[in-house]
Amino acid sequence: MTIPDWQVHEYNEDFYVLRESGCINPEKPFLYSIFGDNRALLEDTGVAYDSPQKTVVPTAPVIMELMNKWAKRSHHAPVSLIVIHSHSHRDHIAADAQFQQTSGVQFIAATPSEIQKAAGIAKWPTDVGMIDLGNRIVDIIPIPGHDVASIALYDRVTGNLMTGDSLYPGRLYVNEAQIPTYAASAQRLADFVRLHPVAYVLGTHIEQGSQLYFDYSRGTVYQPQEHVLQLSRAHVFELAEAFRQMDGKPIKMAFPDFSVVPRTANSQ
Ligand SMILES: [Zn+2]
Ligand SMILES: [Zn+2]
Repeated sequence: MTIPDWQVHEYNEDFYVLRESGCINPEKPFLYSIFGDNRALLEDTGVAYDSPQKTVVPTAPVIMELMNKWAKRSHHAPVSLIVIHSHSHRDHIAADAQFQQTSGVQFIAATPSEIQKAAGIAKWPTDVGMIDLGNRIVDIIPIPGHDVASIALYDRVTGNLMTGDSLYPGRLYVNEAQIPTYAASAQRLADFVRLHPVAYVLGTHIEQGSQLYFDYSRGTVYQPQEHVLQLSRAHVFELAEAFRQMDGKPIKMAFPDFSVVPRTANSQ
């Protein structure tokens, strides 16, 4: 049986959800690709092979092929690519060099200052910026906490909100020292969601099972009964509520579809 390295899901012809295989790395992260009239946006570049050599996965050819197919099918001139990251952890940036080396690609490094510059964010993290793909605005919402460079992306066309590792069906890790920062970000994200229509909340991993409160342990490669990827706007409010209940203390909070897991060490 052949297990492909990538699963490419067409949400619609201008919005793609890509998932890296668990056979490459048990993190099996999700990537997102959104097409506008002038540019395509890629969120994250994937994770390396879970081997001692940490061989990098060829992500760029997969994206370039997707872009070619898109242009052909929609009878559109080829568009350029802009690469941004949900955050800077290594399971989301492994193939960065492949894009940095490709001419015509606007590469935004996963640092607050680079994101701030590229998205025109006046004040990090309290202001919202945007990236215009050509008749398609993607709002960039700084939500530091899980990582200093964590952002959420809001696609105004589909109403999908991409929340990275800050909100997904699984264990949301937070370093103890970052709890107040994450709490403030969760509240700002809830404020944003209150004012915008949200179709789906889309994160970058699945660790929950389809049964409520159940999560697969770290390093699980095969998850036959996993939770669906999508969460709802209600989960954004629940995340803010989780941090309100924690009240700055490192308490693990379990909810039906996700948990907040404080850690002392640096975490992914
Ligand atoms: Zn991750
Ligand atoms: Zn992470």
